Amino acid sequence: MTPRPVLIGRDVLRLPLVGRLLRWRWGRLALQLPLLLVAAALVIDGFAGPQDAPRNLATVVPWVHFRGLAVLALLLAGNLFCMACPFTLPRTLARGLSLRRRRFPRRLRGKWLALVSLLGLFLVYEIFSLWASPLLTAWLIVAYFAAAFILEAWFGESAFCKYVCPLGTFNFVYSTLSPTQIAVKDRAVCAACAGKECVRGSYRRLPNARVDVLPDGPREARQGPSGTPGCGLLLFPPQLTTNLDCTFCLDCVRACPHDNIALAARRPGGELLRPRAWRQRWDVTLLVVALAFIGVVSAFSMTPPRYELQSSLSRLGFADEPLQLLAIFGVGGLLLPAGAALLAARLGQALTRTSRRLSLRQTAAAFAPAFAPLGFGIWAAHYSFHFLVAPLTLIPVVQEFLGQPGEWARFGVMGDLTAIGLLQAALLLGGFLWSLWIAQRAAFRLYRRDALPGLLPWALLLLALMLAAGYLFTLPMEMRGTDFLLG
Ligand code: SF4
Ligand code: SF4
Repeated sequence: MTPRPVLIGRDVLRLPLVGRLLRWRWGRLALQLPLLLVAAALVIDGFAGPQDAPRNLATVVPWVHFRGLAVLALLLAGNLFCMACPFTLPRTLARGLSLRRRRFPRRLRGKWLALVSLLGLFLVYEIFSLWASPLLTAWLIVAYFAAAFILEAWFGESAFCKYVCPLGTFNFVYSTLSPTQIAVKDRAVCAACAGKECVRGSYRRLPNARVDVLPDGPREARQGPSGTPGCGLLLFPPQLTTNLDCTFCLDCVRACPHDNIALAARRPGGELLRPRAWRQRWDVTLLVVALAFIGVVSAFSMTPPRYELQSSLSRLGFADEPLQLLAIFGVGGLLLPAGAALLAARLGQALTRTSRRLSLRQTAAAFAPAFAPLGFGIWAAHYSFHFLVAPLTLIPVVQEFLGQPGEWARFGVMGDLTAIGLLQAALLLGGFLWSLWIAQRAAFRLYRRDALPGLLPWALLLLALMLAAGYLFTLPMEMRGTDFLLG
């Protein structure tokens, strides 16, 4: 039987102009160069500009505007930031220096390191008050370029993107909600393809050609100096079931000699309903659950209860602020989600008497996708506050960077806080309902007649997360990077 094509919707790469640009050999570079220029501007302003955070590109762009736009892009289009990521440009240079193509250490090839680096980034952000320091933010950007360069010079695969980058990890998790995904058009073509250029690359110093016998007849496949590398993350498109590791770089599209890969439109979050789309591993499960919790902890860290908790910790003998923050993020962002997921899985087993048939790992993994929409809702509600509270302040900051007088009176206006609050509530509630829908589908799949008791612990956990986030958003939140609006 001929395998079904897995193209799930319209191919974005067939759209006029946009599709052409994306498929073009230098298409990614064309997207990366503007962001590289932006990164350079941030570094210059961070090092040499005014150290007044709301007036400096280094703090305003990454901590106020970028995050809001990134979540919007994830929801409406896909992982556009990774697609245009400038940090991979020196990485490409580093690849040329890589003498031995070492694999990344096997023990580190999961999502554990990514989870630790995510927590590390949030901790560094809090400990060093990065939103208030253009200089330190500029150093962080430089460190990011250096880390990408060093890891790529040392290892033969895109280790930085796949296993380390905290920004990429955030994008990977929430691109599972996106309405697009890399997919092959016809699996039969892949079966007959001898070169597997999508992963091996079509670049060769010396040109050569072969003939693949495809279902619709023989077709020539060429390799040569005008070819491109294959998937740097070593993903094999015919087997792709998720966006979880995909940077949307489209190298596979450009390398495939049979034009058999699409950037396919799909039902947003479609993979969250497919049982085998994600690997049933603890690292993947915990990453997705923890990121939703970290969203709550991050909002918590900008509200008054954070300082009350720190005072209590001081009275208990934890006087050191970095230690206090380590405790808050370590407990709230790691121990609590791990404990809550284990407890919910164990309760689900007990209520449905499935502990022999389903392990804790399988149970937790089945419900992990349900944490993606709520986690996204929490982050989107949080970031939309910072973004919309002063959406146009970027304009006077750019004007001042270019040596012009900044029109603060015109563009430094505050957004409508009631409207922002309503939007936050809608994002939270929408994320929660979406999560609940996914969780109940998982429960019916796993437990059938016992679906309701099996769903109960997970539904309560999701509800508790939503209520905690909702409560925090009703508290006065620090307007980091835009606090000048308060006068
Ligand atoms: S190179 Fe293209 S046709 Fe060959 S296996 Fe990869 S996606 Fe399929
Ligand atoms: S599958 Fe690999 S090469 Fe293709 S877009 Fe994703 S990361 Fe890039």
